[in-house]
Amino acid sequence: MDNIRDDASPPPSGPTRRFGGLVQKLRHAGLRPTRQRLALASLLFERGNQHVCAEALYDEAQAANIRVSLATVYNTLHQFTEAGLLREVAVAPGRFYFDTNLSDHHHFYFEASGVLEDIAGGHVVLARLPTPPEGTAIARVDVVVRVAGTARV
Ligand SMILES: [Zn+2]
Repeated sequence: MDNIRDDASPPPSGPTRRFGGLVQKLRHAGLRPTRQRLALASLLFERGNQHVCAEALYDEAQAANIRVSLATVYNTLHQFTEAGLLREVAVAPGRFYFDTNLSDHHHFYFEASGVLEDIAGGHVVLARLPTPPEGTAIARVDVVVRVAGTARV
């Protein structure tokens, strides 16, 4: 990849081998594979698709002896999102989930428990969308279907 800068090299020892696939993933996204990013990427991307919030990821990092601050977790999640590795899903003012599933899909949000669950993209049909303002285009439509009740608690 010609557009990846050479100074993005990780330290040549352990982490490179252990996080080989993740090093590539971060580099391809234009992010320097630092130890902290690799450790958090490992929690995010090596266990199948998931929806995580910053606080939960921070707790997981602590449990895994990854020494990061909550601010670093927030920053890293936003960097990953800007680099296209995660999607941010806003479920309430100030409440965000970060989704590792980048495919076309929507969400059920269980209000009682705060759980987010995927809805396959084809299961939501939008009959009509407004014309976007001149000079803009619709990049993506996210539907969050809010569910009340006690299921999925
Ligand atoms: Zn999702």
